[in-house]
Amino acid sequence: MFESLSDKLSAVFDRLTKRGALTENDVDEALREIRRALLEADVALDVVRSFADKVRDRAVGANVIKSVSPGQMVVKIVNDVLVETLGDTAEPINLAAKPPVAIMMVGLQGAGKTTTTAKIAKRLKERHDKRVLMASLDVKRPAAQEQLAVLGRQVEIDTLPIVAGQTPLQIARRAMEAARLEGYDVVLLDTAGRTHIDEPLMQEMADIKSYASPHEILLVADALTGQDAVNLAKNFDERVGITGIVLTRMDGDGRGGAALSMRYVTGKPIKLIGTGEKMDAVDEFSPQRIANRILGMGDIVALVEKAAAAIDAEEARKAAARMAKGKFDLQDLCDQLAQVEKIGGFGGIMGLLPGVAKMKDQIEKAGIDDKLIKRQRGIILSMTPQERRNPDLMKASRKKRIAAGSGMRVEDVNKLLKQHRQMADLMKSFGGGKRGGMMGKAAQ
Ligand code: GDP
Repeated sequence: MFESLSDKLSAVFDRLTKRGALTENDVDEALREIRRALLEADVALDVVRSFADKVRDRAVGANVIKSVSPGQMVVKIVNDVLVETLGDTAEPINLAAKPPVAIMMVGLQGAGKTTTTAKIAKRLKERHDKRVLMASLDVKRPAAQEQLAVLGRQVEIDTLPIVAGQTPLQIARRAMEAARLEGYDVVLLDTAGRTHIDEPLMQEMADIKSYASPHEILLVADALTGQDAVNLAKNFDERVGITGIVLTRMDGDGRGGAALSMRYVTGKPIKLIGTGEKMDAVDEFSPQRIANRILGMGDIVALVEKAAAAIDAEEARKAAARMAKGKFDLQDLCDQLAQVEKIGGFGGIMGLLPGVAKMKDQIEKAGIDDKLIKRQRGIILSMTPQERRNPDLMKASRKKRIAAGSGMRVEDVNKLLKQHRQMADLMKSFGGGKRGGMMGKAAQ
């Protein structure tokens, strides 16, 4: 899958990675090519535009890490934007409800709905140890119910016995009752398809939805239909409401347009992808993995990530070594604040520490928030390098200049300097001991 898109993007990056430095012209030229490649891959125009804007914003302002080339940096940026566009994280099927959990499968005829229903049932049984019941609500296509029964036997999943002459709603009722009585964990309701969207179909879906209150409504769409699949998802979502998408025939999709546009246009996650006709040919949709396949440049992405991590570690080591000697100037404080911002500000830190969330109110009352970090960094960045290294230089006239430069008041500058002094004293008391103290150990 995605061979052609990945080939085209590779050609763009090959040219870039060979150059030493990256100019704005280079970025623009690469973006032109990227835009063309995406459009040819049948990615929706809106998505292409927003994609290119994001890449440009980040590429032009990016700090290029020393040990990688600017071209490699752009590859990493394109990768990150791809992952974001695809939805950041994998979203598995949600089964967190009182059993029996109903999952309703919807979609057009031929999209792979019945096949996917059986694939999902098999997966839930094998990987999640669930007892699954499948029921076909398709009374229009004569062989539909029998087709599901055949697949059920093949994957060893129970199907609801066929009773001729029942309406879809009656079948749904029978399926839910059977599941309750017989202790099934999950009921998969395979609904009828049509060759195109029409009002009676939508009404039928809405009725089944209001009766069975499904926990998930998964639209099965054929990736090979590109933009049509995306429009279909939008339509189904507006009329019936869907919770996720299964993109089938990703094994044959050389262009990748549907996958890339789907999340952006519908706002709904792709939860699974179909990768073949066999009953095991279904995978969790992983934005990272798909981005990797589209770009075909996992090695470069990993390289840039490693280089960035190495630089962070190196900076932390240097800072710890300085502090061990009792040195903690304003530049150090600025670097520390930048680190806090990088991991998502105080909100990010609090999210990482269990129990701290409870203290949120107190922290906010004390005026420690992410805006404060920004303001404090702003003040330090308005100082000259000499002032940052030597806070004793700070006289009234300098303070005035710094306050004006950062849009703050002199008393804010004083407050920051006082805070810094307290922190530096604290560092000294840690680091001043004969054997290097706490910070000394951290630096070793
Ligand atoms: P429905 O009408 O939506 O229920 O579609 P079916 O489940 O009957 O599938 C139609 C055809 O598509 C069958 O031959 C399936 O084997 C095939 N199919 C379904 N999913 C995939 C997939 O992910 N990849 C490939 N290559 N074929 C698929």
